[in-house]
Amino acid sequence: MAMMPGATNRLLANQSRQGRMKSYQGVCLHTMVGSLAGTDAMFQKDGTTGTESHFGVGENGEIYQWVDTAYTADANYLGSGHVISIETADYGGSFGRWNTNGDNVPYWNAKQIVSIVKILQWVHETHGIPLVATKSVTEKGVGYHAQGVPNNGLPASLRGTKYQWSKYPGKVCPGKKRISQIPEIVRLAKGGSTAVPAATEPATPKGVLGMTKRINAYLTGKQKATGTRHLMIDDKGNYTIVAGPAEFVVSAKADIGGLKKGEHGFLILAEVMYKKGHPTVISREIATVKVTANTVWSVAGAWTLPKDHKGKSPRLRLIFKTSSKTATAHNVYISGVRD
Ligand SMILES: [Zn+2]
Repeated sequence: MAMMPGATNRLLANQSRQGRMKSYQGVCLHTMVGSLAGTDAMFQKDGTTGTESHFGVGENGEIYQWVDTAYTADANYLGSGHVISIETADYGGSFGRWNTNGDNVPYWNAKQIVSIVKILQWVHETHGIPLVATKSVTEKGVGYHAQGVPNNGLPASLRGTKYQWSKYPGKVCPGKKRISQIPEIVRLAKGGSTAVPAATEPATPKGVLGMTKRINAYLTGKQKATGTRHLMIDDKGNYTIVAGPAEFVVSAKADIGGLKKGEHGFLILAEVMYKKGHPTVISREIATVKVTANTVWSVAGAWTLPKDHKGKSPRLRLIFKTSSKTATAHNVYISGVRD
């Protein structure tokens, strides 16, 4: 059994008739040309006899798991025994109605990006799939459907092999806009843990929803993480990741230590209200992860920080909350984009 914590269990009937995964070469991103509800209804009706994917991500970041990742899902044709598939909503609601003939799939929104990041992190930890945006269908890591499509990304020499991910030549799934977001999403999933540049640097224009600045910060040293502790994020003594007004997508991770047996805590991306000389209060928990062991924990969230209000400045911080008297954090890494 391999079920992702936090995903809604929508397992299709007769999982085991799918056969077991033969390898975990990669993750493949797809687009639905539809909504999560519509795709779910279609998958549930056909069960595992039709085509299905392991995961689905809705317009509001909902995560459905349709197939246990011990078993194959059919979304990647001859590659289905080697690839974890993620379908994503793209039509109706806030995406509107668009001409589905051609390459017009809209960008993934911030909530979807956060959910894709969470799935990638889980798949990486559970199945060892590297957090690398692949450039071709034969690489291990995070790829997209069109890479394995005849008359698109699939080299002619690989037709009929496990790298052929579709029967249908020319398929563009998940569309050029979403494809352009994948490197940034993979970077978020990694939590900025490699080659961390200083402060903020320009992101790919339009790469993630037109957010134009990258956020990178890290602090490898150990710090106390007891009580409701705002974690320091760099060696200059900063606590604030982003100050309002700003829209952002942020992923954070920290190595939590010092918890005694039975103790736990919560790693929280929080909006706080800051005013010099006043207590800084949490105004919103944007994303929270329950921490139950001394290991590396990740949390990801998207939000729009408002403007200053009554002399208070809204800020994004990483907070650890616990009743443990001995908890510590080290290797705090922050990665993200903002407008
Ligand atoms: Zn697809």
